[in-house]
Amino acid sequence: MLATPPHSRLTVLSGPSGVGKSTVVAALGRASPEIWISVSVTTRPPRPGEVDGREYYFVTDEEFDRLAAQGALLEWAELYGRQRSGTPRAPVEERLKAGVPTLLEIDVNGARQVKRAVPDARMVFLAPPSWEELVRRLTGRGTEPAEVIARRLAVAEEEMAAAGEFDITLVNTSVTDVCRELVALMEQ
Ligand code: 5GP
Repeated sequence: MLATPPHSRLTVLSGPSGVGKSTVVAALGRASPEIWISVSVTTRPPRPGEVDGREYYFVTDEEFDRLAAQGALLEWAELYGRQRSGTPRAPVEERLKAGVPTLLEIDVNGARQVKRAVPDARMVFLAPPSWEELVRRLTGRGTEPAEVIARRLAVAEEEMAAAGEFDITLVNTSVTDVCRELVALMEQ
């Protein structure tokens, strides 16, 4: 008799902008190479040190439109009203089918789309140790215009309110602890 093919459960890590999702995921990538971390497409330009195909696939607006129209994205969202980022569908489906533990690090709007498209996905919310700490991180050096900061905080407040839509909340007290908790969850 044929063995049942392996199939892993998709894990989504989301949470407010500024909470440290990408730092956690970068550390997880180093500590747990058996976990496959999806590489998104984005319309924003690379930052210094970012490599095409590693942090993101950097695409033009036209390419992004084409991918979205073709249904090649599992989810996508517009971020900060100026860039679009999305998850290529095929690589995720291939990994899951092959039984590879798979992780997406995406914003709250994208996470909602994944929950609808993949109802058995494990939805993980990364929360800051406190609201004050998130404000501190989002306010940064305080060199930006007050209205930019106010807008960012308003979005963060909305994103924080989405925590209840997730299966579990991890508090980002330390990158090492959160990584360990996430790996333990993904092994269940
Ligand atoms: P950054 O542009 O600083 O790399 O990321 C900004 C935000 O975009 C982060 O909150 C990150 O989680 C989110 N993000 C990155 N890739 C994707 C994606 O493929 N889909 C969605 N919905 N959000 C993403």
